[in-house]
Amino acid sequence: MTDLSFYFDKITITKPDLPELDQFVEQLKIIWDNKWLTNNGPFHDKLESALAEYLGVPYVSLFCNGTIALQTALKALKISGEVITTPFTFPATVHSIFWNQCEPVFCDISPESFSLDPDRIEPLITSKTTAIIPCHVYGKPSDTKSIQALADKFGLKVIYDAAHAFGIFPKQSGKDVWGDISMLSFHATKVFNTIEGGALIMHDKAQKERVDYLKNFGIAGEELIVGEGINGKMNEICAAFGLLQLLHVDEQIQKRQLLDARYRHNLEGIKGIDIPQIGNWYKPNFSYFPIFITDDFPVSVEKVQKRLAQFNIYGRRYFYPLVSQAPCYRTLPSANPALLPVATELSSRVFCLPLYSGLSTTDIDYICSIITGCN
Ligand SMILES: *Cc1c(COP(=O)(O)O)cnc(C)c1O
Repeated sequence: MTDLSFYFDKITITKPDLPELDQFVEQLKIIWDNKWLTNNGPFHDKLESALAEYLGVPYVSLFCNGTIALQTALKALKISGEVITTPFTFPATVHSIFWNQCEPVFCDISPESFSLDPDRIEPLITSKTTAIIPCHVYGKPSDTKSIQALADKFGLKVIYDAAHAFGIFPKQSGKDVWGDISMLSFHATKVFNTIEGGALIMHDKAQKERVDYLKNFGIAGEELIVGEGINGKMNEICAAFGLLQLLHVDEQIQKRQLLDARYRHNLEGIKGIDIPQIGNWYKPNFSYFPIFITDDFPVSVEKVQKRLAQFNIYGRRYFYPLVSQAPCYRTLPSANPALLPVATELSSRVFCLPLYSGLSTTDIDYICSIITGCN
């Protein structure tokens, strides 16, 4: 067999959790016997209701990935004109706005939530603004109550990129937490994964129906097309995989919590390393372990990254550079770094350390010793 050690002998930012292989094979046998591979099959429907139950939300619509889900959310809510969003996110957030023929307007972030700073949103609202799309970063929530209050005041829709935020909100939370729609990503790198996948969270039945039509080409009946839909469906194999993942996701999050605590134990109090605190109104999912390297640290974030790579350890600079600096967006007036001082500063300092349930506390100690040895 080809030597694949290049791919696998590394500690990367994350490695996915997988279901038990024999359990998955059993589910595959069912799929093979019934030959129903996609289009609202039994596994798809079961995962939708299992997730609604797990998350404590009224309506879930599954997707093939989070990006198509987000694009469909904008379409479902008929978002047009300008959309206020964050530069401190994965490119998909902003691309989804662009793919819906809207103009992204970048707003600076808060140094506490790493998401949109509500005080900075209001000055950016114009007669063309129709929506706000914040992103919950690292599994920390945005200031959702203030954002909803602003949206209500100005008649705007709120769509959350909640790709990092699986399971963090109390059950039965309403619009002041989920906005009009929230998007979850179940990509292989996320805390809960279905290989590729995603979902929209909604509060009302009509919205769910509209989204379900849109993700299936807008088809509402054999001879009825109700909108300019897309193909965003989750297939049966990913849904079956997801149902098994859901059985042990809590256990995986607990393992991550231990590793998070070990990082904090080793790195807290070290001059030049800032570690964000965990708040108390949500349930952290320990999806990422970001540190911020300040000028008090002996070396720059680039040097820390290089040093770790010499030991085959690969963290990631999430999110550097800011998406507002991408060539396709940087000429927008709102992309000017002088208008985004907090995001620009944090982006230049952040480094996410490896975190996944397959790591041991010994691995964490090893990673920390390399960081603290930098000089
Ligand atoms: C992963 C991610 C996405 C994209 O989700 P996919 O399921 O990969 O399409 C969007 N936004 C953020 C913040 C992400 O981390």
